[in-house]
Amino acid sequence: MANEAALPAVTICEVGPRDGLQMARDILPTEIKLRWIRQLAQAGLREIEVGSFVSPKLVPQMADTAAVVRGALEIEGLTVCALAGNLRGVVAAHEAGAHVVAIPISVSDTHSRANVNKGTDAQIDMVRAAVDWVRAQARPMRIDVAAATAFGCSMEGHVPLQRVVDVAADLAATGADAIALADTVGYAQPAQVRATVRAVRDAIGARLTKLHLHDTMGLGLANALAGLDEGIRAFDSCLGGLGGCPFAPGASGNIVTEDLAFMLASMGYRTGIDLPQLVAARRLLAESLPSEKLRGAVAVAGLPKTFGAA
Ligand code: ZN
Repeated sequence: MANEAALPAVTICEVGPRDGLQMARDILPTEIKLRWIRQLAQAGLREIEVGSFVSPKLVPQMADTAAVVRGALEIEGLTVCALAGNLRGVVAAHEAGAHVVAIPISVSDTHSRANVNKGTDAQIDMVRAAVDWVRAQARPMRIDVAAATAFGCSMEGHVPLQRVVDVAADLAATGADAIALADTVGYAQPAQVRATVRAVRDAIGARLTKLHLHDTMGLGLANALAGLDEGIRAFDSCLGGLGGCPFAPGASGNIVTEDLAFMLASMGYRTGIDLPQLVAARRLLAESLPSEKLRGAVAVAGLPKTFGAA
């Protein structure tokens, strides 16, 4: 591509095995999850959120996360992320060997209480304790915190920008390595993404690294582009756009990895992803999760003739 050298690299973190599966009707066996993760890594994804350490009673799809983490660690060059909802989960992620633990904290206090029975302030205290605990261990583990419901909440509705900035600043002050802004329920629009990224970056600088976007209103890629224009260089997404949020009724899936990778590559950003191989990885999902609807444009239309042309 003519302008490939000119544009920077963008990291796509695949969250399908976590965000995508937690709402799925069927429980995917560990071997299938690992086969899927291997296919994703082979297609060039370098960072994958492979599961979450939450109560298996609450999210039975994630009961085998420790085994999935251990299996994924065998894939060379892959950064293995696991989500944790509390300190116990962070300890479990560390024990399993995860390179990164992702901790979601709801900016909306109502969402936080509905989700984990604790308000946002108590959750920020939990992150502080988690950071202290991880830093005291011999093996380092990156700590990413996601400010969830940063663009709106299915319970509170509008989430004020100042509230997002304040929570992000408190989260950065815990010493966590990176802060992401998450549109947990998919209410964001591009102008809001721009304004929020700017305001949060003014407050916490380069500690803001990533956007986690859902496509509920069909604005997922537009929102990603807004973030990209504001200098965001990492995005969460999900093969086939699977997923949702068990505590946000009506929320549909994550932005589609194939479509995001296509947009980025077409524009000349480097993602390291082999698109045909990535699209082919949908087959395993379609076979293993027959009751889930896979979304995405590139997989249906195929790559245009202009793709990859100088
Ligand atoms: Zn999500």
